[in-house]
Amino acid sequence: MDFRSLLPLQATDLRISQLEHRRAQLPEHAATTTAQKALAAVEAEVKRLEQRRAEISVEIEQLEKRGKELDARRAKYENQLKSVVVMREVEALQHEIATINAEHSTLDDAELALLEESEALDKSLTEARDVLPRREADAIDTAARLASALAAVDADLAAARDERARSAGSSDAESLALYEQIRNRMSSAAVAEVAKGSCAGCHTSISPKEQADIKRVADTSDARCPYCGCLLVV
Ligand SMILES: [Zn+2]
Repeated sequence: MDFRSLLPLQATDLRISQLEHRRAQLPEHAATTTAQKALAAVEAEVKRLEQRRAEISVEIEQLEKRGKELDARRAKYENQLKSVVVMREVEALQHEIATINAEHSTLDDAELALLEESEALDKSLTEARDVLPRREADAIDTAARLASALAAVDADLAAARDERARSAGSSDAESLALYEQIRNRMSSAAVAEVAKGSCAGCHTSISPKEQADIKRVADTSDARCPYCGCLLVV
């Protein structure tokens, strides 16, 4: 086995995981999400306003229909009044007409309120529709920026993965298998040199006697840092 050949491989693996982290944390992700949410909010607002406007026009139509029915009844009673002479019947008709007038007045108030609401609604709708193209452009723009940032990281990742394949190709299968096995278990380095009397993986100092012991078993699965357990290149 040759542990030294694992060092460039590990450096490439580190670069790959840094690139993967960068890919996941690109600020363009958040910007795209924000822009999409803002667009969805305006679209929902336009839809809500349009729905309410449609409801109002149905409500107004119903009020007008009811108003016409009342007008017709009042005209009928007023016509009857002209020919009725009995006081009691006159009073009954006048009472009917007063009731109709009261209802009509309530209808008119309701219709007026709806017309006012409709006017305010039109204003809000115009505002929301004015904002819409800007929100759409923002969403498209941020998505394009994200795609381009992703493409740049992906190109670096592809290059790093090619490099990894080359590095792996220059290591022997046994060293490689050992490295993969240790790497899966460890959050720090899986293979390290002894630098200035310390393990470069965990930075614990390794005594000359420990170093001599490790040298005796160099490039075997026993050549480990006694502190972190990584493979040591000696
Ligand atoms: Zn160590």
